[in-house]
Amino acid sequence: MLWLILSAVLLLLSVLIVRAIRLKPDPVDIPPSDAPVFDKDKATRDLQSLIQCPTVSCSDPSLESPEAFEKLIALLPELFPEVYRACEFIMPGPRSLVYHWKGKQQDQPGVLMAHFDVVPVDQTSWDKDAFSGEIEDGVMWGRGTLDTKCTFLGVLEAADHLLKEGYVPSHDLYLCFSGTEEINGDGAPAIIRYFQEKGIRMNFVLDEGGAIVENVFPGLKKPAAVVGIAEKGTMAVRLSVPASGGHASTPPKISSIGRLARAVAKVEKHPFPAHISDAALAAFLGMAKNASFPMRIIFANLWLFRPVLYLLCSIIGGEFNALVRTTVAFTQMEGSHAFNVMPTSPYVIANVRINCGETTGSVLKRLEEIIADDKIRIDMPYGRDPSPVSVIDGEPWKRLQTAVLQEYPEAIITPYLMLASSDAWNYCALSDHVYRLSPMPMSKAERAMIHGNNERIPLSSLHHVVSFYMRLIRLC
Ligand SMILES: [Zn+2]
Repeated sequence: MLWLILSAVLLLLSVLIVRAIRLKPDPVDIPPSDAPVFDKDKATRDLQSLIQCPTVSCSDPSLESPEAFEKLIALLPELFPEVYRACEFIMPGPRSLVYHWKGKQQDQPGVLMAHFDVVPVDQTSWDKDAFSGEIEDGVMWGRGTLDTKCTFLGVLEAADHLLKEGYVPSHDLYLCFSGTEEINGDGAPAIIRYFQEKGIRMNFVLDEGGAIVENVFPGLKKPAAVVGIAEKGTMAVRLSVPASGGHASTPPKISSIGRLARAVAKVEKHPFPAHISDAALAAFLGMAKNASFPMRIIFANLWLFRPVLYLLCSIIGGEFNALVRTTVAFTQMEGSHAFNVMPTSPYVIANVRINCGETTGSVLKRLEEIIADDKIRIDMPYGRDPSPVSVIDGEPWKRLQTAVLQEYPEAIITPYLMLASSDAWNYCALSDHVYRLSPMPMSKAERAMIHGNNERIPLSSLHHVVSFYMRLIRLC
């Protein structure tokens, strides 16, 4: 009996170890390439000029400055004269810019995209003017320096330099920019409609997204270029108790606010079940392949360790937890406007990020089941499903991998599931290869500055961005 148990344990151990040994980095063969030469001071000055246009998107249009958007658009021919000379310029919408750069062949065109709007600023919490583009100790401050005027500039600056050198891409390229990304506006959809009317499908699309990051995965020492191949869905869910009211001196047994509080507590007590989507699995495996042996044992043997992984993810929380499940964050609530008046229609709103494999419909159904209170109305003011998962083989991936590893030879490249939402979601209608990467090193502190205070970019990162796009376009 003992002998039998011992043999079974040994067999299990050898299976775990053999599978871990077989989980190793794929060999990559990156052709050498010269570092692109461009005018770094011009790139810096140009970003400064873009930062000085306060192109803030707001859901309430009266809070926006149309002049800022006009100023930025008027500035572009001055900053990027070669692009305006050589490319056809189309505006499918008031905040949608498309530059058509003709290649040697018209088939299999590609898209390089970014957005030029930014989120609002609470200037009192900033240490410097958010729209001055001030440079101190080699770092440029300003809203949009990271998200994402740096990639907007990077694409145009790279194109301008390569055009000046007389470069002609093998295939058509479209440089596409929207000015409504931060409010999920019509900037990108207008561009999609334009391409759909012309019947054009894209060989690949590259938008902002992941970055070159470090210390994000236990046992992984190298920097990792994480490329979003899918993004979670996002929705707003509103819980309300209509026609409540009454007098505060004669309250009912359960107030409408009590009812909502109970519902919120139930939802938070019953997190959505964990499930590793294909995109999250690709991320975990991509990292684990390059990580220490104990990590490779776990991830090569998810058939055994999956429950352990799920448990770890909920204990670690944060990004790890969000990678494997739909998350619910209650963000808004309203009751009555006076302390002695019962609210007539109180509500709470949650922002839900939907895991791949679920939909807005399945989320609503589950919330109804958990809340189980027919006095509470549940509706969805806004929602979109998770994106499809992009294909990570073939020429488009190879090209991206080459450009990334030429620019960052010490890094590894891996797909991942994007937790935030972006304009790239719309482009899945045009291409099976929609990738999301902001091609620059980004520390944890820098990632926290996105949509936060004191957003700023080291000039070295900005120059990496321009250099990366020059390498990528040379491969297109
Ligand atoms: Zn952005």
